[in-house]
Amino acid sequence: MKIVPISLPTPFYIGPVNVYLIKEDPVTLIDTGPKTKEAIETLRTALRSANVTVSDIRRIVLTHAHEDHCGLARALRDEAKDAEIFVHNWETGHRVGRFEYEEHRQLLVRAGVPADELALMRKLYEGVRQFADAIEDDHCVDLIDEAELEFETGSLRVIHTPGHTPGSCSFVREGDRTIIAGDCILKRVTPNPVLSPDPIDTSRRFKSLAEYLVSLARLRSFAPTLVLGGHGDAVRDYEELFNRYLRAIRERQATVIGLLPKQGATAWEVSRAMFPGADNVHRFLAVSEAAAHLDYAASEGKVAVETSDGREIYRPSGGANR
Ligand SMILES: [Zn+2]
Ligand SMILES: [Zn+2]
Repeated sequence: MKIVPISLPTPFYIGPVNVYLIKEDPVTLIDTGPKTKEAIETLRTALRSANVTVSDIRRIVLTHAHEDHCGLARALRDEAKDAEIFVHNWETGHRVGRFEYEEHRQLLVRAGVPADELALMRKLYEGVRQFADAIEDDHCVDLIDEAELEFETGSLRVIHTPGHTPGSCSFVREGDRTIIAGDCILKRVTPNPVLSPDPIDTSRRFKSLAEYLVSLARLRSFAPTLVLGGHGDAVRDYEELFNRYLRAIRERQATVIGLLPKQGATAWEVSRAMFPGADNVHRFLAVSEAAAHLDYAASEGKVAVETSDGREIYRPSGGANR
């Protein structure tokens, strides 16, 4: 079972995205690239050099529903006629493009984001959203944790690896311990735990960092030899990356706690202190990062949180090691 990596251009800061062609019955594409002319043309050229056309594709499998990964899913599915789109059902908000506006807005208000910033974030999201077509429920097959995607000469096991997004999934080929990991594992950057509503209770914030740490440990249990991520080079030394991520997360947590004044601060205030130069979408990513670390620190009893005026205020807790 041959996995063919294909790099596609994106209009995003992160740079090109990696999608993976499995050129075996049923012909499968893992992730699609964004809905841009450049991405579809690059994809067609790459498929052609692998002797495949879009109409041969039977399965479009999504690691998660960010625009750079899912943008072309609907267009490719329509062109391939009887192809099916597979995605975890916790990706709903992103997938259909509603992005749970109201739920998100409330979470951001609680995180202390001011009204003018909220309006700006929404506008930025509208801009990003044009790089993906919505995929409605009746057009998708659920990716189920531990299910096998069967191919002629092998299979890929679906591993639900929440963190970057609630419904992020990885795909493990156990024979040679190769993992296709989407944005769960990126060689050069620690993936951002993006602020999301909890899929089970959308009034709560998804505990992205705690979930992410479990996902990292779960992937580690496969003792991977090769991890193919959503951006950048493949990872051959998972152990090194795992330890580096844990170190980075610990250091970031210490920074976040260290930025909390005695009288307390919101996640938004912490994010502005941590990344004063952040602009545009980076302000959203920064508040995501601060909220994720504060949630995790609170779960470990290192910070105390209370709600005042509809905003969560974090304080260093007395017993914390600072
Ligand atoms: Zn992503
Ligand atoms: Zn990505």
